[in-house]
Amino acid sequence: MPDIIQLLPDHVANQIAAGEVVQRPASVVKELMENAIDAKATSIKLIIKEAGKTLIQVIDNGIGMSHTDARLSFERHATSKIKKAEDLFNIHTKGFRGEALASIAAIAHVDLKTKQENQELGTHIKIKGSTVVSQENASASKGTSVAVKNLFYNIPARRNFLKSNSVETRHIINEFQRLALAHANIAFSFFHNDNEIYNLISSNLRQRIVAILGKKTNERLVPINEITELVEIQGYVTKPEFAKKKRGEQFFFVNNRFIKNAYLNHAVTNAFENLLANGYYPTYFLYLNVPPKSIDINIHPTKTEIKFDDEKSLYAIIRATIKHSLGQYNVGPILDFERKASFDTPYEFKNKKTSSPLIQVDTNFNPFKSDDQKSIKFPFKREIQSQWESLYTGIDIQNIEVDSETVNTSLFSEENSIAKTYQIHKKFIVSSIKSGIVYIHQHFAHQRILYEEYLENITVKEAMSQQLLFPLEISFNKSDIGLIKEIKEDLESIGFLFGKISADAIVVTGMPVTISESQITIIIEQLLEDIKNDIPESSFSQLDIMAKSLAKNLAIKTGKKLDLKEQEELVNKLFLCKEPGFSPYGKKTFITINLDEIDKYFNN
Ligand code: ADP
Ligand code: MG
Repeated sequence: MPDIIQLLPDHVANQIAAGEVVQRPASVVKELMENAIDAKATSIKLIIKEAGKTLIQVIDNGIGMSHTDARLSFERHATSKIKKAEDLFNIHTKGFRGEALASIAAIAHVDLKTKQENQELGTHIKIKGSTVVSQENASASKGTSVAVKNLFYNIPARRNFLKSNSVETRHIINEFQRLALAHANIAFSFFHNDNEIYNLISSNLRQRIVAILGKKTNERLVPINEITELVEIQGYVTKPEFAKKKRGEQFFFVNNRFIKNAYLNHAVTNAFENLLANGYYPTYFLYLNVPPKSIDINIHPTKTEIKFDDEKSLYAIIRATIKHSLGQYNVGPILDFERKASFDTPYEFKNKKTSSPLIQVDTNFNPFKSDDQKSIKFPFKREIQSQWESLYTGIDIQNIEVDSETVNTSLFSEENSIAKTYQIHKKFIVSSIKSGIVYIHQHFAHQRILYEEYLENITVKEAMSQQLLFPLEISFNKSDIGLIKEIKEDLESIGFLFGKISADAIVVTGMPVTISESQITIIIEQLLEDIKNDIPESSFSQLDIMAKSLAKNLAIKTGKKLDLKEQEELVNKLFLCKEPGFSPYGKKTFITINLDEIDKYFNN
């Protein structure tokens, strides 16, 4: 038998590779514009004719290329952006594969002009289907112009497969917008069949968003800002009332690269929970900055998907940050309540430890004796010895930086301490505030407090456990056991400890300090019920359900009498929450009535 394996000629290999990189004219637009950005251009012009089918040209004022580089840039795997394998884990440019120009040149007529700043003359190269037709010196201004004509001229099947001009143009506009939004400081212009579509001057992010989406957008934007060890988040969401029926205007950028990520999108949508009617989508422009090492942009050839090291924490941070910003926008003005920046980050999103929780064995612990042996440091001026054990024990809030006076004096009328509170009908806590009266719903408010504490424990901290003197065996059916196994690690992160888990029973050896032994069974049962009834769309929302369920079941109930100190602590802790206005199930935790409104009752 003769040998039958042959190496494919370059132009065939390039043509095959091109299929991966270039699906439609918009792919060419993206690759050329990204090259211009990588070349540090401050001004980029895009010209297309007939939806890019006859011409796509990108002109930049970037660093340009030498004569040799200009020729080399069309070779496959030729790139100036990475040199060795390790560089793959530290990518600061848009491109790095070195295959775009080679691919484009394989399936089109390409005309490249480029000149570096210090060169007299630039280079002009013409290529048709991977073959260099000519290369000569030419006068040119600093930068690079790449014109791509007759795309897919040699692959008729592909060319016929292209959609109508309006559809292909839409794709191009999308790519253009994404890049223009990712680089507000670069000036961009865009011409289609000699009509100017966009002319964007170098600006800040807000101006760029408004320039692209229209003047009305300006007043709709709610700024988002959060810096944590894991990620820096900036950008805008639009106020809930301007949500759209289409998903169109949702932009995530990671290190200035547009990405799609269903999981993180869910985090945003989730932050709008209860604020949007069914079928409406929030508009957002979110810019995440993460260390390049913590992402893998290599998993998809067209690179709109990337993989994060720690998606779960990212999810939690994004959701909490947006909720908080929306909360400020909704609730802030009513309360004359200015948060300090330091107040905005109660969760230090350190890497979550999956190790088993810190165990504090309290040998004196007796679940039947209620005592006040445990105290907490409260971040306000006075230190409060809590009688209210179930609410405050084991919660370490010392490291939350809070300026007590800002909170107290701006919200409440009396200096240095909050106003006197009253409990009415064993249900509401009433207090006077600057603008009138606040009514706090004790059960919903406490749900909120516990919910944030549990979430924080689940996502960031090591929780404290109380070891049981006698391990407790609880029977469950098979499917429940399966579910418990699934959430075991998360339960451990909030302070549960388990011994043997058999086919029909579990052994609990420890529990969060906030729970008493007599509650364990009912709480776990209720938790399983809640998880089964909710349909978790992601592993995080399972954690969320857990935190909600525990908060619901452990929050003080309507009908419980609270002494003054307990009332005060409830109020204080509520307003330390990221999102004090609503219970985790979306119920209002408090309402305020303004003096004017009260006056009205007397003056009509
Ligand atoms: P990649 O961008 O992945 O490196 P490309 O095929 O897109 O691969 O480009 C190959 C090389 O050509 C780039 O690494 C860069 O050095 C050079 N290049 C391409 N476009 C430009 C441009 N507009 N200005 C300067 N250099 C460019
Ligand atoms: Mg490139």
